[in-house]
Amino acid sequence: MGSRYENKEEEKMKCHYCGGKMAKGKTTYSINKKGYHLLVDDIPAWICSQCKEIYFEGDAVDIIQNVIKNIDVGVAKLKEEITA
Ligand SMILES: [Zn+2]
Repeated sequence: MGSRYENKEEEKMKCHYCGGKMAKGKTTYSINKKGYHLLVDDIPAWICSQCKEIYFEGDAVDIIQNVIKNIDVGVAKLKEEITA
């Protein structure tokens, strides 16, 4: 499928922690923040076949952090309006 982040080192990917083999898969990212809980399904990631350590690919982490920042602002605004 048309992934922008093709990794030619795919077969050499090894887990940072246990040295296990990394496999491409999908994961769920969840975070509990003050005032809301976020859960994002089906994020492409590298997953260790041994210890299940997860590595996000490309700019997935940046994108998630951006989303969280936006939600933070939105939630703060929401609460302001309700308590005003
Ligand atoms: Zn591992």
